[in-house]
Amino acid sequence: MPFEFELIKKDTGSSARLGRMITAHGTVNTPVFMPVGTQGTVKSLTPEQIKSCGTQIILGNTYHLYLRPGHETIKKLGGLHKFMNWTDPILTDSGGFQVYSLGKLRKITADGVIFRSHIDGSKHFLTPQKAVEIQEALGSDIMMCLDECTPYPATLSETKKSLDLTVKWAKLCRAAKASTEQAIFGIVQGGTYLDLRKQAVEEIIPIGFDGYALGGVSVGEPKEIMYSIAEAITPLLPEDKPRYLMGVGTPADIVYGVSCGIDMFDCVIPTRCARHGLLFTNSEKIVIKNARFREDDGPIDETCDCYTCKNFSRAYLRHLYFAGEILAMVLNTIHNVHYYMRLLAQIRAALEENSFTEFKNTFLKKEGGI
Ligand SMILES: [Zn+2]
Repeated sequence: MPFEFELIKKDTGSSARLGRMITAHGTVNTPVFMPVGTQGTVKSLTPEQIKSCGTQIILGNTYHLYLRPGHETIKKLGGLHKFMNWTDPILTDSGGFQVYSLGKLRKITADGVIFRSHIDGSKHFLTPQKAVEIQEALGSDIMMCLDECTPYPATLSETKKSLDLTVKWAKLCRAAKASTEQAIFGIVQGGTYLDLRKQAVEEIIPIGFDGYALGGVSVGEPKEIMYSIAEAITPLLPEDKPRYLMGVGTPADIVYGVSCGIDMFDCVIPTRCARHGLLFTNSEKIVIKNARFREDDGPIDETCDCYTCKNFSRAYLRHLYFAGEILAMVLNTIHNVHYYMRLLAQIRAALEENSFTEFKNTFLKKEGGI
């Protein structure tokens, strides 16, 4: 089944939207958050546990899967869904971001990026065509174009040069796509320069993608800049296609992003924080190792109905954390992923009930602003 996006409803008080993506592996209600499954696993959780948190779609990292175990191996074994036993939708990134952040001795040319593996030092050449070939072998439902993630800070001329390369590669990625079942999204770069972001939109849209992402955000720039990009650029993207804010973010970032018209988010925050004992709740962020939880027999969050909160106390989770037990990571991750999924469900319900602006104002006030 080819990819489709249905815009169900537009909010009257903001640019927020309620929608639905139909993919080869099922329907995804938007706005949606995608937990990150870097190595073909959302760290510490089984697919059943990921699903029980309310997850609709996960993200897989092309760079890691390409280097280990290799996309051809995964293809031979029936694709990424079968390999990791996740039957719901998967979005894969292009591998570009990790090449820039993890790859050693990387060199960007007009045709792609040459880098050495962070695992064994072997040399690789990732081209736009290769990024699509890898993602088609993985069999994800949504593929991303190879782009150059402009670092922060970057001068206007550096950013312009980088943007031109991203546009060139976007055309090559679009042309390389052979799969009819997999969607491909274009990425809007342009760094912190709104004029370049607008130029990117004008150049990327005519190529014709199934969805559009704002990339190069959350790369160290001040939060206000990320917010101003989301606010100014999201409305310029086609209304009838999904919009994805890459690598964002905190619960407050997500609520704000939705109000700008963003439909999709991904971030390592809920899973990474969980592994470090930082837990999200409706009233506060909990550092589970705090002494005040030593004899606390209450759940992480009284209002949470996740497996962890229904069955375990803060005192027990604190004990597991200090003992370095694997179960600490499992239980904490279940709670944090569930928290994010519940937040997105609350956002969708508020949009349904025409109360999103009220929800947003109350939520951001509680979080202490954006
Ligand atoms: Zn919970």
